[in-house]
Amino acid sequence: MVLSQSKEPIASEVFEEIVKILHKETTKRILFITGAGISVASGLPTYRGVGGLYNETETADDLPIEEILSAHVMKDNPALAWKYLYEMENFLRSKQPNAAHKTIAKFEQFFQTIVLTQNIDAFHRKAGSSAVVEIHGTMHKLVCTGATCDWEAEVRDFTHLPALPQLPLCSVCGKLIRPNVVLFGEALPKQALLVLHQHYGEPFDVVFSIGTTSYFPYIQAPVHRAKAARALTIEINPIPTIISDVFDYSLRIEADTFLVALWENYLRRLKT
Ligand SMILES: [Zn+2]
Repeated sequence: MVLSQSKEPIASEVFEEIVKILHKETTKRILFITGAGISVASGLPTYRGVGGLYNETETADDLPIEEILSAHVMKDNPALAWKYLYEMENFLRSKQPNAAHKTIAKFEQFFQTIVLTQNIDAFHRKAGSSAVVEIHGTMHKLVCTGATCDWEAEVRDFTHLPALPQLPLCSVCGKLIRPNVVLFGEALPKQALLVLHQHYGEPFDVVFSIGTTSYFPYIQAPVHRAKAARALTIEINPIPTIISDVFDYSLRIEADTFLVALWENYLRRLKT
């Protein structure tokens, strides 16, 4: 069922149906797939580039952001890549997880809850979710670019790094360091893929896809897999996506509004 009228509130029967399935004894495992749209209520832009942290496609340096935040610019002109990484981190620093992230974390009280996010803002972990696969990496981990060096560090922000034109260098080998995010043209992180496939070892009973265009095949795959296994599948996105038709419900509603209302409905039924 696709509910496509943008301003129409979600019918109570839809909540009722989803809540009913959440309350079934057999409903144990839930997957939340999230994209840039879930962080909009936190004040982040929806643009797809690097986890939705950059608002414009063109930059002050006359290059598209995809070009600047790419593997080859990081290699050939790291100061340019770092200029925009600093800008993004500085912007991100003042933002916080919103009600959607916090509500997803609450699902852990009753369900095995896995989050597969394309966002690099770390908001799911900040909000309290414990099983989060950050498939595009995170701004909060720095790694060394030296081929044989395994230096890495979890960081709150980049305030301790030197100002440009000085580049941030590894304290062990002296090579350039960088955030552990997937730049354009780079492969997905092996460790995240490994963990994700471990999670896929057991089927999910419910799959929510929230605030993502589902552009990437690895974001579509778990939805198709869940559908084939007859799990309940729900998409929450302001506009239809290329896989909206696959879902049991594709809803045009804000992520935070939907999740908070769903959770309240779920708890209410729990008490009766
Ligand atoms: Zn190093």
